Amino acid sequence: MTDASPRNEEHPLAVLIRVQDLDTAISQHEHRRAALPERRELAELNARGAAVRRRTAELDERGAELAGGLAHLEEQTTAVVARRRALEDRLSGARGAAGRDLAAIESEIGQLRSRLGQLEDEEIVLLEEQEPLEAERDAHRAELAELAERAAELTRRIAEADAEIDGELVSLRAARGDQAALLPEALARRYEDLRARLGGTGAARLIGDRCDGCHLTLPSAEVDRIRHLPPDAVATCEQCGRILVRASLGGDA
Ligand SMILES: [Zn+2]
Repeated sequence: MTDASPRNEEHPLAVLIRVQDLDTAISQHEHRRAALPERRELAELNARGAAVRRRTAELDERGAELAGGLAHLEEQTTAVVARRRALEDRLSGARGAAGRDLAAIESEIGQLRSRLGQLEDEEIVLLEEQEPLEAERDAHRAELAELAERAAELTRRIAEADAEIDGELVSLRAARGDQAALLPEALARRYEDLRARLGGTGAARLIGDRCDGCHLTLPSAEVDRIRHLPPDAVATCEQCGRILVRASLGGDA
C-alpha cells in the first residue's frame, strides 16, 4: 500500500463522516427496498386472494351439499312417480274391482300427488339457494383471475426495483468498505459501537452551533471549546454522544 493517494493523508474524521454518509445512504436504500409500495400492495393482494379462495371453498362445500340434496329429491321424485304410475295402471285395469279397493288406490294416488308437490317445493328452495351461490362463485373466479394478473405485474415491478436498488447497494457497500479501511482501528470501533446504539448514526456534523445527529443546539462555550481542540482530538456531542465532525475537517457538506 502506498501513500500516493491524497485521501490517505486526509483527517480520519473527514473519512469517518464520509463512511457515515455512505452508511446513511445504504440504510436509506435498504429501507426503500423493504418499503416499496408495490411490495405492500402485493401483500394486501395476496391476503385478499387467500380470503376469496377461503370463501370459494365454503361455497364449493355448500354447492356440493345442495347438489347432494337435489339428487336425493330427484331419487324420491322418481320413486313417487313410478309408484303413482303403477297405481294408475292398476286403476285402469281394475274397472270391475270392488269400490272399496278403488277408493283406497285413488286415495294413495292423491297422497302421492301431494308428496310430489312437497318434493317440488323442496327442490325450488334448494334451486333458489343454488343460483346466487353460483353467481358468487363466478364473481370470485373472475376476481381471482384479476388478482393473479395484478400480482404478476407487481412481482415484475418489484423485481425491477429490487435489481436497481441492489445495484446501487453494491457500489455503496464497495465504497463504504474502501473508506472504512482507511479509518484507524480504534476510531472505527468507537464509530460502530455508537452506530449500533444510536439508530445507525455514530458520527454527525457540527453545523454552526447545532449537532446534525440529534439536531440540538450546543452551548456556545462548548462550540468554542470544540472549535479550538487540537486537530487530532475527537469531540463528541454532549447531548447525544455522537462523534462530532467539525466543518474545518470536511464535515460541513
Ligand atoms: Zn448530538
